[in-house]
Amino acid sequence: MTWIDVHTHINMLEMTPEQALAEADLQNVGSMVTIGTCPDDLPIVLGLAQKFGPRVACTLGIHPHEAALFTPEIEKFIRENATRPEVVAIGETGLDYYYNNAPQEVQIAAFRAQMQIAEDLNMPVEIHTRDAEPDTMQILQDFGGRVRGLLHCFTGTWEMAKVGLDCGFNISISGVVTFKNAEALREVVRRVPLDRLHVETDAPFLAPVPHRGKKNQPAWVVHVAQLVAELKGVTMPELAAATRQNAQKLFPKFQL
Ligand SMILES: [Zn+2]
Ligand SMILES: [Zn+2]
Repeated sequence: MTWIDVHTHINMLEMTPEQALAEADLQNVGSMVTIGTCPDDLPIVLGLAQKFGPRVACTLGIHPHEAALFTPEIEKFIRENATRPEVVAIGETGLDYYYNNAPQEVQIAAFRAQMQIAEDLNMPVEIHTRDAEPDTMQILQDFGGRVRGLLHCFTGTWEMAKVGLDCGFNISISGVVTFKNAEALREVVRRVPLDRLHVETDAPFLAPVPHRGKKNQPAWVVHVAQLVAELKGVTMPELAAATRQNAQKLFPKFQL
């Protein structure tokens, strides 16, 4: 039984990547995808995936918070480097209207541009969406059938999940599912087909219960998995096998 953390930021942890990988070993967390978010960290995640690959793979993209930094030069960098073997997806991109760190129209333009990169390069996308369901659903539908990927740290409604699933997007569950007030999310997990689910940490953010409030790390994806397995009525080995198969299918370049 080995786990895959499909969304983490190992360059932002409290510990070194070496320590994070050693801790992950102890919990059978075999592989992880470390996520690009801004112009400064794209070379860093590339370097981590080169150093620790194939166990660590990376994505290239600009987070909605940083959407104003999505320039033609960055687009060129992403397009040129995304074809490297260690880059398994585009992202994270999407819309975050909770923080609105970038104007909404700027976020939308950067999101659409990165979806277009994914389509052109035939790569999956890791999508971040918060308080922006109508616009996210519209963009997923506009690219529906031509771009696939996952909705990372999913916290939305069943309607949003359904649109994502119908458009070819899988659902990735983070430690939020373990929080006391997340019953609506737990109900979504019960409804998402097992062959469309992933688990992630989004470390160093969103540490799951029983570590809530601490700095998160990839090893703790097992606490997310434990609850997801209960909600799905499957054993941990069954969930590990299913999520591994889902990751293999979604990220063809990822050597799992
Ligand atoms: Zn995110
Ligand atoms: Zn993230």
